[in-house]
Amino acid sequence: MDKTSSPAVEAAPRQFVVSDLADELIECLKYRVGKEPSVATRHDWLSAAIKVVRDRLIDRWIESTRRAYENGDKRVYYLSMEFLIGRLMRDAFSNLGMMEDMREALAAHDVDIDLIAALEPDAALGNGGLGRLAACFMESMASLDIPAHGYGIRYVHGLFRQEIHDGYQVELPETWLDHGNPWEFERREGAYEIGFGGSVRSVASQEGRGERQIWKPTERFLAVPFDTPIAGWRGKRVNSLRLWSAMPVDPILLDAFNAGDHIGALRESNKAEALTRVLYPADSHPAGQELRLRQEYFFSAASVQDIVRRHLSKYPDLHSLPDKVTIHLNDTHPAIAVAELMRLLMDVHGHGFDSAWAIAKQTFAYTNHTLLPEALESWPVPLFERLLPRHMQIIYAINAEVLLEVRSSGRFNDDEIREISLIYEGGERRVRMGNLAFVGAFSVNGVSALHTDLMKQTVFSDLHKLYPDRINNKTNGITQRRWLFQCNPRLTTLIRDTIGDRFLDDIEALSELDAYAEDHEFQQQFSAVKRANKEQLVKVVSERLGVRLDPTALFDVQIKRIHEYKRQLLNIIEAVSLYDQIRSHPERDWLPRVKFFAGKAAPSYHNAKLIIKLANDVARVINSDPSVRGLLKVVFIPNYNVSTAEIMIPAADLSEQISTAGLEASGTGNMKFALNGALTIGTLDGANVELREHVGDENIVIFGLTAQEVAQWKAQDYRPGEIIERSAELKQALEAIGTGVFSPDDPGRYGELISGIYKQDTFMVAADFDAYSSAQRHVDELWRTPARWHRMAIHNTARVGWFSSDRTIRQYASEIWRVPV
Ligand SMILES: *Cc1c(COP(=O)(O)O)cnc(C)c1O
Repeated sequence: MDKTSSPAVEAAPRQFVVSDLADELIECLKYRVGKEPSVATRHDWLSAAIKVVRDRLIDRWIESTRRAYENGDKRVYYLSMEFLIGRLMRDAFSNLGMMEDMREALAAHDVDIDLIAALEPDAALGNGGLGRLAACFMESMASLDIPAHGYGIRYVHGLFRQEIHDGYQVELPETWLDHGNPWEFERREGAYEIGFGGSVRSVASQEGRGERQIWKPTERFLAVPFDTPIAGWRGKRVNSLRLWSAMPVDPILLDAFNAGDHIGALRESNKAEALTRVLYPADSHPAGQELRLRQEYFFSAASVQDIVRRHLSKYPDLHSLPDKVTIHLNDTHPAIAVAELMRLLMDVHGHGFDSAWAIAKQTFAYTNHTLLPEALESWPVPLFERLLPRHMQIIYAINAEVLLEVRSSGRFNDDEIREISLIYEGGERRVRMGNLAFVGAFSVNGVSALHTDLMKQTVFSDLHKLYPDRINNKTNGITQRRWLFQCNPRLTTLIRDTIGDRFLDDIEALSELDAYAEDHEFQQQFSAVKRANKEQLVKVVSERLGVRLDPTALFDVQIKRIHEYKRQLLNIIEAVSLYDQIRSHPERDWLPRVKFFAGKAAPSYHNAKLIIKLANDVARVINSDPSVRGLLKVVFIPNYNVSTAEIMIPAADLSEQISTAGLEASGTGNMKFALNGALTIGTLDGANVELREHVGDENIVIFGLTAQEVAQWKAQDYRPGEIIERSAELKQALEAIGTGVFSPDDPGRYGELISGIYKQDTFMVAADFDAYSSAQRHVDELWRTPARWHRMAIHNTARVGWFSSDRTIRQYASEIWRVPV
């Protein structure tokens, strides 16, 4: 989606002579892109603009790296299977304070910065919240001057592009590298060999002390790093995001080629390419495929080798590793790194098991992101053994060590011991990656206060009993540079004009806005900003979907991955019920409302895809029914990604955060909306609990069962059918959907979806419906009194500075990583 121009927030006063910058663009276009201005395309200009800003970053990058090396600073390595970074150009311009200079320099060549910015691909190397968190963290670590490296995979195809055909999600390949990637530096010389398969042989160690294991893999690949500079606010520090790409060790098997096997000769090359070609599109659900385990090992092993090499370039051995390095595991996807570091320590650097284990346990930290039992990663032992035979041995050795400790403590019964074991034995034997990460890390953190408590009580209760000091909380955050300064320049300008610039460097200074919450003039300005942002979204929707919207309507927004636990279905059912009430009671004073949805469903997730179709079916019927008189509109915006979020969030009045309590670990969408002055309607789940504490109970609309109540209902005999019978509105809406009112072409389309609610209702839609519906009518009442609404919205913006990822990273730095900030 395109942005229309607004003045940028600058990290520094104007620094460049615009005519020099304009000349530099021409030089770059000519000598590095190879084009004359007269024939340059917009993509060429984009490439030149990025290269010019990248040049500015390089000096600081080299300087940051040298400083860390010379000072012997402790480094943080953030390993993540996903980095949902989105577009980077505005980030870099804005953090270096050269946005307006660049705008003018490009304008001098008749190039519109907003048009080329819209051409930058939205790098979607992630599925949702987990990947976006990694991206916000990279930006905050650079802004807080922490020597950090991100490590991940350079997927050729990021998350699929979503189109909606006849209301259904269609997945198309994402091709973000089509025009090359002007940000990255390929570093062939920094490649490592990564093996799979083969066997392990024991040999007598040279020192004559016992045996040493030698793993001889049968398959080998090269991991080639590609580096992207990540600039912090005001260009303080530039860190690297290092993404690994697989390449063949032998690009062509010449023997095979010469023997006439021309296709077989390229086999290695194809196999390597396949390894890092695609991101698995399942969110909060393990793919369980061999290729996925290969991807996990591939990037973890390359990263650990790189970390060990860098350490040994300065220090004599690896005993000092824990003092100089923390390797942070973003969920269990890189948990195999624990076994890989053990392997390097024992098999390559001659440590015994005890020494290696002592070092590893002090080096890793792990963040858990989900409690959904189906989302916890585990791998079948036979598969693991075949791909990573040496790592399997090491995991058995770690397990033996841990279980010995457990048994000798005498505090655990057999059931508890079974839960602690790294190997699941109740059926097909499997390696539990969560348990490996837990025992291999000195810190295990949850991502909101509630989620952290539930971790202690549920998935990790026995491990928590064994290591009671290990679990800690670090509530997630978002970077305000992207999620306020860049995505909402109008609001940022208003805030600067009102309270000055201090909040640009200390986001909690936003609290000074609290004093203006009742100020009539400020309220008018605040709502004028919201109105302008809404008009911008109205324009985009009209261009993209041909749907006309009323910018004075309440904009009610639910955008996130489509998942049953996130309960888009609850929202849609409420829309159907509202539709029914508007038609049955035309005399009432209904308030115009637009319900926006956006989000992708995993391609194999049947119900999630059906929910997308339902949203579109309901939209079609409601939007074209004249008896609704335009009072309710439903819009599904295709291809949700970071750039879409950047347009929609500043335009939202109401933020839907309505997951079944206990199932959303934190959420970060909730924080972005509140920062941009939307009110939240939500359950007491994830970070919503803390959001309420910060904005105040009177400035948020909370409804529904608590996590504890959900657990109690489930433990008892939950009968959704009886609840439905007692709720006329819910019953009416479910029957309408279930009998095909919105799908006359296929009346049975939603039969199973709806009967699922009658039968088990796993996500407690029926139990929460009436509370949700009343909460929505309460929202209507609040909206009727604009002064009150504005006051509440202003309090939201003023009080959510705490949810900055700067705060989160400060806590990680001081309480986990022990690096100075
Ligand atoms: C913030 C963000 C998310 C996470 O949203 P939740 O509402 O917390 O699930 C997912 N995708 C994108 C593109 C985001 O920007």
